[in-house]
Amino acid sequence: MALIELNQVGKSFAGKTGPIHAVNGINLAIEEKDVYGIVGYSGAGKSTLVRLLNGLEAPTNGQVLVNGEDVAKLQGAALRTFRKKVGMIFQHFNLLWSRTVIENIQLPLELAGVAKEQRRKKAEELLHLVGLDGRGDAYPSQLSGGQKQRVGIARALANDPDILLCDEATSALDPQTTEEVLELLANINQQLGLTIVLITHEMNVIRKICNKVAVMELGKIVEEGSVREVFRHP
Ligand code: ADP
Ligand code: ADP
Repeated sequence: MALIELNQVGKSFAGKTGPIHAVNGINLAIEEKDVYGIVGYSGAGKSTLVRLLNGLEAPTNGQVLVNGEDVAKLQGAALRTFRKKVGMIFQHFNLLWSRTVIENIQLPLELAGVAKEQRRKKAEELLHLVGLDGRGDAYPSQLSGGQKQRVGIARALANDPDILLCDEATSALDPQTTEEVLELLANINQQLGLTIVLITHEMNVIRKICNKVAVMELGKIVEEGSVREVFRHP
């Protein structure tokens, strides 16, 4: 069984002139350790798909299965465990600007009730992993865009997730910085065996690190397969 499975998944919203099918009958299988890219223009349904994957939205149709469990049915402790297993990074980093780098990274651990000493130790390890040794006491405003995203990545990894969801994570970065952040993500995928799902409107991001890709248009997947197949030259 695949780590993530979508079976005929649909998500509709009420619109002025009728329902908007943001996600419309999607089938998808993402295997453990995949770096899976989902690419499409603005409005294709990518963000909605991300919110279905992390359980922030429930599908109107079909099922989202992670590790064989129906995400929409999770409650209480099972839901909290699931949330820890899925880390997220964002286009605008979503860091807390009044807290230092190390405090930002420790936040998920604090929320999970991890003891102070252990939080500090884990955060130091993560700082090292993302190449920010010695920057723990800086504030996000003192960092470059690439460094901010490294903090975002460290924070997303704090609870040792199995899956990392990247929502336009390099879209605010210049090409050189994008390349560096993608390299870090590729290393994390290899070193930690993490499964990465990466949403983007940029084809070259997909080409750079994904092994599989799905192309979305108007809520549907119009093409899917290995990056080599989908981007082959005719
Ligand atoms: P993308 O991330 O690819 O730009 P979205 O998932 O944000 O696409 O949007 C897909 C479609 O669903 C768009 O037409 C958008 O306007 C619509 N949509 C998304 N979220 C909502 C919502 N909460 N309410 C109404 N319409 C929505
Ligand atoms: P944008 O403003 O384009 O979303 P930013 O990188 O400036 O991108 O902001 C990232 C996130 O941090 C946003 O969610 C924003 O609300 C929040 N944020 C920005 N500035 C501050 C601030 N001074 N204090 C607290 N939160 C902030």
